[in-house]
Amino acid sequence: MSVKQEDILEALKSVMDPDLNKDIVSLGFIKDMVIEGSKVGFTLELTTPACPMKAQLEKGARDAALSVEGVDTVDINMTSSVKGGGMKGPKIEDLVPSVKNVLAIASGKGGVGKSTVSVNLAVAMAMEGAKVGLLDLDIYGPSIPMMMGIKGQPKNENGKMVPLESHGVKMMSLGFLIPDDKPLIWRGPMVMSAVEQLLKDVAWGDLDYLFIDLPPGTGDAQLSLTQKTTLTGAVVVTTPQDVALLDATKGLAMFKKVNVDVLGIIENMSFYLCPHCGERSEIFSHGGGKKASEREEVPFLGEIPINVKIREGGDSGQPLVVGEPEGEPAKRFRDIARTLAARISIQTYRN
Ligand code: ADP
Repeated sequence: MSVKQEDILEALKSVMDPDLNKDIVSLGFIKDMVIEGSKVGFTLELTTPACPMKAQLEKGARDAALSVEGVDTVDINMTSSVKGGGMKGPKIEDLVPSVKNVLAIASGKGGVGKSTVSVNLAVAMAMEGAKVGLLDLDIYGPSIPMMMGIKGQPKNENGKMVPLESHGVKMMSLGFLIPDDKPLIWRGPMVMSAVEQLLKDVAWGDLDYLFIDLPPGTGDAQLSLTQKTTLTGAVVVTTPQDVALLDATKGLAMFKKVNVDVLGIIENMSFYLCPHCGERSEIFSHGGGKKASEREEVPFLGEIPINVKIREGGDSGQPLVVGEPEGEPAKRFRDIARTLAARISIQTYRN
């Protein structure tokens, strides 16, 4: 009896994507099926290369296809195609139409590790195979070039600035617009025009995810951004201290007010594990990020410990996810990147 495509598809319908709550056939994930005797081959196209369910879905699809009578070999080509998720927000124009998802990384106050988290998440996402950009909009201290190990200035080509590339990520910084040794006092219209320039006048090219490291608080940069592009959503970084949480809550309120989805909260400097005895200390208390996420009804993306290697990775320009990808703290960043990618996919399918 020859194997029929419809029987394979019927069997594959039993495989559900747990995030999107639909089966992989109805979601359109199965493509290019070829059947030769007892051999079946097809492409399984996921919504992101960073899908946390990748292995589970591949196994589910293989087992389902093998369960069809007459099939003895299943060859699956795993691919992904990221779709744009931003559909809401008070945007008046979209200055980066070739970017599928623009993500704002925000915090209520400075020093909570927002830039550190932005860098490690962006690099982790690129390591999964996604096309990633990182834009440093922190007017108070653009630190991303140092954390990414980038020296030098972007070149101009055909009237556009070419982003600098490091660890597989395209990067631009507000710092590049400031003449050396000349600290600026940023006034509202200047921020607005810098944001515009760094979106419109940069050759970002096709990107799956553009991470934007915002200045802390709820000021002009945040507002300009929501007006100049369609944000897929915001990620709020906080430490567990009450004061940081209070400020983070104000940030959440701002995003809600301007109709930008909050994709989740990350608690940084969440705890400390003594490298000698393994004892866990909760230096800034612990768990406030999770509680805030429950109270505000936004997802909780995960906790990052205080770890000297995270700080060293930032200072040396070798983010921890590249420096020690298999270490425990790096794994946390990588898990959060996957969870974030999944949240974006969920949002895309919901909109
Ligand atoms: P922000 O962008 O919120 O101002 P940064 O990312 O610049 O904060 O972090 C402030 C300082 O704290 C940096 O020196 C950074 O290396 C360090 N840091 C951030 N997160 C951690 C962490 N989880 N463990 C250890 N040091 C950290």
